[in-house]
Amino acid sequence: MDNSISYEEFSARADAILARIAEICRECGRDPAEVRLMAVTKTHGAWAAEYAERYGLSFVGENRVQEAEGKRSTRPGEAGIRWELIGSLQSNKAKNAAILFDRVQSVDSVKLARELDKRAGQIGRALPVLLQVNAGRDPAKHGCEIEEAPALLEASLALPNLKVEGLMTIAPLSEDPDVARRTFAKLREIRDELSSRHGAALPELSMGMSGDMEQAVREGSTIVRIGTALFGARDYDAV
Ligand SMILES: *Cc1c(COP(=O)(O)O)cnc(C)c1O
Repeated sequence: MDNSISYEEFSARADAILARIAEICRECGRDPAEVRLMAVTKTHGAWAAEYAERYGLSFVGENRVQEAEGKRSTRPGEAGIRWELIGSLQSNKAKNAAILFDRVQSVDSVKLARELDKRAGQIGRALPVLLQVNAGRDPAKHGCEIEEAPALLEASLALPNLKVEGLMTIAPLSEDPDVARRTFAKLREIRDELSSRHGAALPELSMGMSGDMEQAVREGSTIVRIGTALFGARDYDAV
């Protein structure tokens, strides 16, 4: 099914989301420039990334290596919008992920970090990554457990071909907006603690999706990952 929308529609939605981010930032005393909008283009055709690029967004997010391979016509370092992996990654796909993505946000185990490091090294890249933490302790979500985060960070910092830039999380689905807020506050707390303990900057906090963007911005998000609110409902959801 072709569920594409017009560029005008996309552009109006992006304007509205950026205006809302700016409004929340004003309310909580943040600089709106600290929060970047990532367009999550999974399940949509290549048009979705083209819209995001034309609008001037910095990056798109995809959750599967194979799907992104079919849509991306550039490679990291080339001109054009940046592509980032936000979905869970198996070690056997690490090679292709290291070639294809500007950054991998879903590093959740030492094994995966080592594999990505090895593959990035083979192609002479320093691969930017975020560590995904299950800050909401959601049994349905990927991400390392909160208690494992220090060891994962330590191992990742020691790998020569990875550049750890921050943390990512997905909040548990809940009717109660406070569940997301607490999850995001927790991720920020984990970041602050790890950052001071390991002397690593960890500036990025990738948190917030269409349904919980506001809480995320209030709790310090630097990247909100928005799919539905930009492109409309997906036909299917491959997690
Ligand atoms: C699909 C997805 C999003 C976007 O979700 P929406 O609710 O459509 O905004 C964000 N982050 C991750 C990791 C996703 O898989």
